[in-house]
Amino acid sequence: MDNNERMIWLGDKILPVNEAKINVLSPTSQFGLNVFEGIRCYWSDNDKQLYAFRLDDHIKRLQQSIKLMRINSKYSAENLKNALIDTIKANNYKEDIAVRQTVFVDGVGGTWNSTEPVNMFVAPISKHFTPIEQKKGLKCQISSWERISDRNLSPRAKVGANYINSRMAYIEATQNGYDTALLLNNHGKVSEGPGSCFFMIRNNQLITPPITASILESITRDTIIKIAKEQFGLEVIERDIDRTELYICDEAFLCGSAMEITHITNIDGYMVGDGKLGEITHKLSGFYYLIITGQNIQYQSWLTPIY
Ligand code: PMP
Repeated sequence: MDNNERMIWLGDKILPVNEAKINVLSPTSQFGLNVFEGIRCYWSDNDKQLYAFRLDDHIKRLQQSIKLMRINSKYSAENLKNALIDTIKANNYKEDIAVRQTVFVDGVGGTWNSTEPVNMFVAPISKHFTPIEQKKGLKCQISSWERISDRNLSPRAKVGANYINSRMAYIEATQNGYDTALLLNNHGKVSEGPGSCFFMIRNNQLITPPITASILESITRDTIIKIAKEQFGLEVIERDIDRTELYICDEAFLCGSAMEITHITNIDGYMVGDGKLGEITHKLSGFYYLIITGQNIQYQSWLTPIY
């Protein structure tokens, strides 16, 4: 579908994207006072069905962000879920999509400490799954910027304003000729990438920073931990990671709803493994695809059929 033709949910109405407008003086516009989710839905040709992946977990995290930010929201889990489903149906998508669902502080009289009025938009867009074999792999730079922490702007909440930290790291890295950044936290340990969580493999162990390492409690991270243990019998360790461990690991990848699983080939000029897609990363990514497209029935409870 042409992205300019899509229909957006805004304030209990479903409107053409060009008519969905927010006031310039709203706290969301001025201070990034919004919480959001990026939710993927994958089309299954076999089932002629569009499946939202781990929708209930995204809705739960959205509600946790609302609570943490003390936003005075009137939306129930059911309201949030139905808004997403109704918006997708209004567009009649029969392809892979990504949906941005944002709850924000609206109105013209408010400021950075306003808790209401609360509003919501739901914006789907076409976005197809990219098989990992077609990705070239990422060259990462350890950022000179520190990841925000739970003592200042918690990465646990998915708040618009948090992304300025990711922005600084990402733009610095790309201007320096890298594809993306990896951020260290306030303890000097590895936290995450811009919009993605980090895993590495050393001696056949899958290692990822703990949820107290200044990361978002990522749903893809949780999915990977489960399938690594349950399907591949891998030992998964959640622990702090030192910067120099990155330079000697066997495989590394970033993951998230948007980037799915993407291998890292180089960190700060140090080649990761042999600089190619590693075996374990490849296996995990292949299995992830089977789950999200409904081809593995064992994990079907993670899929919400839209139609
Ligand atoms: N970290 C950050 C900062 C993110 O924005 C995202 C994307 N939501 C992730 C990690 C990955 O989270 P998820 O797997 O839930 O998409």
